[in-house]
Amino acid sequence: MIFFYNLIYALSLFILITITAYAWLYKDRHGAKVMIVTMLFLIFWNTSSLFEVYSSDIEMKLFWRNAQQISGFLLPYLIFYFASDFIENNRARRLAPWLIVFPILFTVLIYTNPYHGLVRNGYSLVEIAEGYGFLNVEVSGLGAINVMVNAGFVFIAVALLMNYYRKAIGKVRIQIFIMVVALVLTVFLVMFNNFYLRPGGVYIMTSIFYVPGITMLAYALFKHDMFSVSPLSKDRLLEAMVHPIFVCDTKGHIIEHNAAGLDFVRTAGYESVESMNSIQELFNKPLYVHLQDKKKQTNIQEIALQTLQGLRYFDIHFHTLSQETVYTGMLLHLEEVTAKKSYELSLRRRADYDQMTGLLNRSTFQTTYESMPASKRMMILIDADDFKRVNDTHGHHSGDVVIKTMAKRFNAAKCKTCITGRLGGEEFGVASYNMSEDDAVALAEKIRRSISNTPIEIQDGKTIPLTISVGVAFDQDGSKPFDQIRNEADTALYQAKGHEKNRVEVYRI
Ligand code: GH3
Ligand code: MG
Ligand code: MG
Repeated sequence: MIFFYNLIYALSLFILITITAYAWLYKDRHGAKVMIVTMLFLIFWNTSSLFEVYSSDIEMKLFWRNAQQISGFLLPYLIFYFASDFIENNRARRLAPWLIVFPILFTVLIYTNPYHGLVRNGYSLVEIAEGYGFLNVEVSGLGAINVMVNAGFVFIAVALLMNYYRKAIGKVRIQIFIMVVALVLTVFLVMFNNFYLRPGGVYIMTSIFYVPGITMLAYALFKHDMFSVSPLSKDRLLEAMVHPIFVCDTKGHIIEHNAAGLDFVRTAGYESVESMNSIQELFNKPLYVHLQDKKKQTNIQEIALQTLQGLRYFDIHFHTLSQETVYTGMLLHLEEVTAKKSYELSLRRRADYDQMTGLLNRSTFQTTYESMPASKRMMILIDADDFKRVNDTHGHHSGDVVIKTMAKRFNAAKCKTCITGRLGGEEFGVASYNMSEDDAVALAEKIRRSISNTPIEIQDGKTIPLTISVGVAFDQDGSKPFDQIRNEADTALYQAKGHEKNRVEVYRI
């Protein structure tokens, strides 16, 4: 019998030392230090309970029983401290150092008098084998209060862990689950021993009651990387995300959001998330449209938000939330794509427009022309007269300045539906639709005069006279391909060049 007790003691000692050593390895992690202290007191408790049984006289048994009590008072407190530290519950953690007054107070009471103090009414010796026995103590009213306080500590620890369990994810969730089960099981066994077995004269060594709990704890440590995996709750994960995240119900009411989400809402001009009726207000788009789209589980939509700093672009990722087959809401996660978008826009600008003048380039001029309504189209082709001379006399740079000025004047002269492009070096095109031939010719004349009437400033007030030749062609019903009408306008332009330039010619068959 005694051999069996020793074996159990050795086993629990081994587990406790292993847990202590493991916690020591990760002593910088939340809860690890409190875990070490807790394990040391458990070892102390186990050892002193063994000594109680081994002691030959009653004085010594009482001495070891009192020693056990110190651990007995401290352990529930330590469990509470561990729980609040492990899950980083700051309120409980701040409270913990103050609550140590309870175990200290009861420890002092134990030693008010070496035999029983104020917490015990009396004790008797129970023999378990020849020469071995333990003390059965009678708890006083004050002692009962102590038991209740201790139960309170454990109860709060379990409540903190359970609350955290709901929010925890991954391995930490399993760790918390194992801890709660181990804790509840241990408390149950110890209570069963203290209030049922021992008063009934049945002695089972204290260590035995800890073996299942600490074995589970050791399992959580090794199997689920306790301490090496940082506890992280969904809340913290949400806060850690730099992207705005919103969770809404089926009507679009925001029920959860992170800090980045609040920032976003503020950027959009709202004071708080609560001051918005629904997320639709942000996007001007009914979300339930997406909710009803049962085939698509995710969806991405791009929005542009006008802010004080200018336009900002966001990709909204929609994730429908459902339980079974019932849609319960929507998770929105916003990704700012402003940088990507403005790069894309600048690339597109570069691809679509002529760098020097800002007019459409040759290929965009063509595609835009082709997408115009196919009725009463016209095209005006323009070429500067004797431009080589401008370059030769005033330099290439002045030539560039002239080209830019020409573009500005064409833009100013064109009609509302007109498109203007730079088709080559000093060749330009203007095109439009729904325009009568007379109006087109009048416009061509206006364009010609915009150059010939006003000399062009090349630098520091120095101006040079310039003229342009213009060719016009028509397409009544959109039946002419781009190249054809362009060639026709070019033919007319060639005629203008042949007739002393600085004039408008119309293509006639
Ligand atoms: P014409 O009246 O017959 O059109 O005579 P032109 O001298 O204007 O002859 P043409 O249109 O064939 O020549 C255009 C000249 O424009 C050739 C080239 O040196 C010049 N040029 C073309 N692109 C640019 C440019 O981007 N900048 C400058 N400075 N000159 C250009
Ligand atoms: Mg020319
Ligand atoms: Mg030319």
